[in-house]
Amino acid sequence: MTTPVRTCVGCRRRACSDELLRLVVAGGELVVDERRRLPGRGAWMHRSPACLAKAERKRVFPRALRVSGPLDTSGVRNVVERLATGE
Ligand SMILES: [Zn+2]
Repeated sequence: MTTPVRTCVGCRRRACSDELLRLVVAGGELVVDERRRLPGRGAWMHRSPACLAKAERKRVFPRALRVSGPLDTSGVRNVVERLATGE
């Protein structure tokens, strides 16, 4: 079975989906879909604070996830920063 390829919303590079995090909106907040099972639209992103910063700067999440209004990304930032420091 081949691994699906997805595009990172931050750096726009393509990568295997198992190298990326699936992000979804839950209750007005951006969250990491750890098991990749949550319903609805998902955005794919590297486990990288740099990619998150790019995605936020370009405001890709509201567009990719079809939400209007502000989106709280602090939970996802905590996750990628933790992954980046290898804890
Ligand atoms: Zn990326």
